[in-house]
Amino acid sequence: MNISKIFLNNSGVPRFKSSISFDYNTFIKLFMESLETIEEELTILAKTIKNDFNHYYDTNPFRVSNIYGQEFTFAIYGKDLFLWDHSGSTAIGNVFLDADLKIRREQLNKLIRLAENFTNDIIECGLCDKEINYQTSRKHRYFAGIYCNSCWESKIKAIEAKEDYN
Ligand SMILES: [Zn+2]
Repeated sequence: MNISKIFLNNSGVPRFKSSISFDYNTFIKLFMESLETIEEELTILAKTIKNDFNHYYDTNPFRVSNIYGQEFTFAIYGKDLFLWDHSGSTAIGNVFLDADLKIRREQLNKLIRLAENFTNDIIECGLCDKEINYQTSRKHRYFAGIYCNSCWESKIKAIEAKEDYN
């Protein structure tokens, strides 16, 4: 049996995704370095993996694991750093990375704390940042955001309803 037949389809394209996963300490170190080159360096790393494995479409391969070993997806655009759950479908948090390294360190610690909270079913409301229970609030979803009952009832529900008519 040729095991590569399981990994690759008839066109030689992988049936698997590959990801680049950092532990949270390395993740923090990465973004404490110069922000001028980090986006480009990560892009080169992603392209290398894509080419090595002959992946034919672009998916975000970047993951960071929290203290529990749960993985999250992240991406940087300029100095905006975004964190989602593993599938990329639920927003966990985002920060505009500060030039002041002391502030930036706090921002990165905050993202890691949000990732830890998510393992314990706690997420921040996408509008007011209040901590809410993910399992009971996940029905209040608009794109990748999860909203508290109050923000959902007073603002988001109407926005979502409008889109449903289209
Ligand atoms: Zn809210």
